[in-house]
Amino acid sequence: MADALPHRTIADAAARLAAGTLSSVELTRAVIARTQAVEDRVKAFNSRDESDALVQAAASDARRAAGQALGPLDGIPVGLKDVIAVNGQPLTASSRMLANFVSPYDATVTARLKKAGAVLWGRLNLDEFAMGSSTENSAFGPTRNPWDLTRVPGGSSGGSAAALAAGCALATLGSDTGGSIRQPAALCGVVGLKPSYGLVSRYGLIAFASSLDQIGPFARTVEDAAIMLGAIAGHDPLDSTSFRAEVPDYRRALTEKKGPWRIGIPREYFGEGLDPEVGAAVEQAIAHYRAQGCEIREVSLPHTQYCLDTYYIIATAEASSNLARYDGVRYGHRAEGVTDIEQLNSRSRAEGFGAEVKRRIILGTYVLSSGYYDAFYLRAQKVRTLIRQDFLNAYRDVDVLLTPTSPVPAFKLGEKSDPLAMYLCDIYTIGVNLAGLPAISVPCGFTRAGLPVGLQLIGQPFREADLLAVARHYEQAHDWHTRVPAL
Ligand code: GLN
Repeated sequence: MADALPHRTIADAAARLAAGTLSSVELTRAVIARTQAVEDRVKAFNSRDESDALVQAAASDARRAAGQALGPLDGIPVGLKDVIAVNGQPLTASSRMLANFVSPYDATVTARLKKAGAVLWGRLNLDEFAMGSSTENSAFGPTRNPWDLTRVPGGSSGGSAAALAAGCALATLGSDTGGSIRQPAALCGVVGLKPSYGLVSRYGLIAFASSLDQIGPFARTVEDAAIMLGAIAGHDPLDSTSFRAEVPDYRRALTEKKGPWRIGIPREYFGEGLDPEVGAAVEQAIAHYRAQGCEIREVSLPHTQYCLDTYYIIATAEASSNLARYDGVRYGHRAEGVTDIEQLNSRSRAEGFGAEVKRRIILGTYVLSSGYYDAFYLRAQKVRTLIRQDFLNAYRDVDVLLTPTSPVPAFKLGEKSDPLAMYLCDIYTIGVNLAGLPAISVPCGFTRAGLPVGLQLIGQPFREADLLAVARHYEQAHDWHTRVPAL
């Protein structure tokens, strides 16, 4: 099964495309056929355009025939989370608010993937406006976990993780504000990379919390993630928070950087709430690195206990401001039969947003309101600095940090009905966003029930090349990433 075309890695498919033993049209057809076979069960896609994908694939084959192939992504079907703009395609954020919106422009990551020759295929489901950890908050219905269809794929980028795990793309893009790439990657048994804040342009990404949001890849292997990151990373004048730095050759760094590394184990990430089977799988990964000559050191990130509160103040504050633009006037859902502008705004928003989005807007407006700003928002910003400082202090003694990605494996649809229970899914991922660091989730085993477990490696700012090399070192000694769900 793992050798079927839709389950190939980018590296492998690219080699065959280059050798002329595979065409992009053939590969894209196989991915489309696989999607047709499983999508009514997985429900990863909000929309897809098969003929458009085949036109892109044929163009790639024509380039190659003319000796103008563009690189390892040329002709590879890649899916995008439905918060990333593609000119002329629907862009919904899985919200009723944008149910009929068509993007008039390309996000920078989209333009860069097009330049690399990727076949852009499908808009992938998510929690509405990326708020959630299970994809159940989508206005269009939940995505299911390909390893167990009664369970969630994680979120918010659940469609991106599930589509890849199910063989409906060779790689996908998601966005990660508090864990939305890494947690679904862990729950679906694929690699998920959240880059350093500022490495990948956010231009054309629907904003949730602008100081936390980053776009990043889902891929089958660390090498494929390196290929994807290489295509999308780098300075963009259209995003004022985009970092000016040379983008290294991430793929080459995988073979150049050999370790051994000093690996820090933050003790706060192994406490209460950690599922014992997840804990055991992560302990085995630690044992692997130790056996390979890495120095394993326990470290402390003392402000970890404040991460969740800090995140839910800052993220909701920024969301309340970002989502003010959906007012029913220029675009998005517009209420009918209203008599004045105030009614137009309030009814459009009441009808267009789902319950979780409304909860976040209300919380965020509250923490920013006069009288509460100092007590909540300003204080949260100060704690955020302390949280970042914790990580930077730890990096004086170690090269990377190793933790579980998610405290639990995939849970049942409907299981977490109380918002706080859902928020706790992200206790190991949120600190990374507050600190602006890069982090990757790599498959590290399965539970007895056959559910994937993910290992999180957290790197130093803009040291993705090192992070990827450490991750690849583990991956190469294991075969978790080669398993395919029996759908
Ligand atoms: N689950 C977190 C939230 O609901 C993180 C979401 C994300 O990273 N987009 O806010």
